[in-house]
Amino acid sequence: MMKFGLVSHRQHRTGPDCGLFQWARACGPALNALGLGLHAVGGTHDALVRQGLLHDRLVPVGRGRAGGLVRLVSRVAGGLLAEEALDGIFFLVDPVDPTSIYPEAQALRRQCVIHGKPFVATVAGAIEWVAVELACAGLTDVPLPQAQALLALESQVLALIAHDALKDEMVAFAAEHFDLLSRFAGRVATGTTGRRLNEMAWARGWPASQDWVTRYQSGPLGGDAQIAELVLDRRCQKVVFFEDPHVARQHEADIQLLDRAVCTAGEATTCFNTPAMARRWAGALQPGHTARP
Ligand code: PGA
Repeated sequence: MMKFGLVSHRQHRTGPDCGLFQWARACGPALNALGLGLHAVGGTHDALVRQGLLHDRLVPVGRGRAGGLVRLVSRVAGGLLAEEALDGIFFLVDPVDPTSIYPEAQALRRQCVIHGKPFVATVAGAIEWVAVELACAGLTDVPLPQAQALLALESQVLALIAHDALKDEMVAFAAEHFDLLSRFAGRVATGTTGRRLNEMAWARGWPASQDWVTRYQSGPLGGDAQIAELVLDRRCQKVVFFEDPHVARQHEADIQLLDRAVCTAGEATTCFNTPAMARRWAGALQPGHTARP
């Protein structure tokens, strides 16, 4: 059975229409159909129990203050017992909650990236990811109407960014799913990633007079921040960011700033941080796709 960790900052679990409850109501039937277990941290677990939502799916992992998040980090990395290992994380992040920059919150995201497991940080992303898992499991008859708008690529703009060690992988991903990615209303990229992607597109016959992606500055020169501003303006709805977790990054602040902008626009924006996540999403959108990678 698939297991995800579940955390939400206070903002997303306060009030009857908060993001956590919206997600739980929308995705409850799908999560049941998937048999997906949710290992939930203290306050998030208690809020769902009080609301009578997802109770069959929940496994408590302890309060944040008692190390609940640390346990999730360990279990993303494999945990102490094989049966406790997690397949991914739903973490509804409020970027102005000071705990969003605590080491355990950053390590949770980083270990997901290292192990190629989904780290889903927004309400829109959490709905979309449940739709991805449904498609991968071949459960196409389970309704999830809230995912429809997220799957309408023609009305969205896509951002593509890759650190140096992952640029080949980004070009390969974009070439493999060229038709799918070409359906977006527009594509943007940081400078060097964008140059590589345009070269790939022209080699495939994209009109030489047109850019396949609009290029902004290179990441270290502020390209991440330019794309963050598009995200804040709801002019970019999906960010595919292949980040390298194994090197010291001179522009770490810029990387985090983009991540946090995605969470600020979290009702409309989703983000994939690894090739594994992007490929699983792309695979789920291919008609007739049912296989698990
Ligand atoms: P680049 O920027 O595409 O210009 O290399 C990406 C980054 O390093 O953030």
